[in-house]
Amino acid sequence: MFERSYLDKSFTVADPDARVRQAGNLMAFETSGGTIKTIAQSTVIRVDAVERLQAGANKVSLFARALKEDGTPHGWTSTNNLQGKFVNETLELIEPPSGSGKFGPNAAWSHGAYVGQIGLVEVVDARTEIERIAVDTVEAYLKMVDAAKLSGVTVAINSGFRSYPEQKILSDGFEKHLPGFNKAAKPGNSNHQNGIAFDIAVAGADGNEVYDWLKRNAPGFGFVRTVSGEPWHWEYDPPRAQQAVQNHTYKIPAVSE
Ligand SMILES: [Zn+2]
Repeated sequence: MFERSYLDKSFTVADPDARVRQAGNLMAFETSGGTIKTIAQSTVIRVDAVERLQAGANKVSLFARALKEDGTPHGWTSTNNLQGKFVNETLELIEPPSGSGKFGPNAAWSHGAYVGQIGLVEVVDARTEIERIAVDTVEAYLKMVDAAKLSGVTVAINSGFRSYPEQKILSDGFEKHLPGFNKAAKPGNSNHQNGIAFDIAVAGADGNEVYDWLKRNAPGFGFVRTVSGEPWHWEYDPPRAQQAVQNHTYKIPAVSE
């Protein structure tokens, strides 16, 4: 069963100017006696609700309702004011819209074929934007994230699930050599379309602390590298990850670099 990750934990206010927003109008600040209300830096809070505002074509701003430890409200503030900036928190479960077809937002594809509709969970990515990952992989992903965190390493994604139209944009951009487009499979053929592929922010490869942590630990959580030349691309594939563990590696045999 899906539960929003932020409900069962505490957060620390990191920003020295964590301003409180108006509950009915998150664009505006709450004032008291002419000064803007803030939540003091280092305050430990709980969060019981999250709202979003569109901040650009593909960008949203997230706001959390911050509570004191006794449950009374501090008020709404930007999640960017919190330590960790809400990265890897899960927001909403998105069920397939009724009657949606193979090009719909929840349609899964594998090896060029439509394979059905899947539930998706929104998760805050490495850039504090919202990605979706398959509901069946959330638990495994967050288990790995939590283990990395205990080692002081932040595992976070740049890309998770993609719908057919989203994959088509990436594939077309690559084939037309548009700036900023990396190699991308043809729509229907990417494992980002069935929920097992995760592009993890690794900033390079060997020597990057996230990548090195993944090499040592990801297969133990069911994740394995499956694409040559893409150290960021990991797939949740427990049988192949288990095979990698037995072979003392972190990748499938077809991955050469
Ligand atoms: Zn990928």
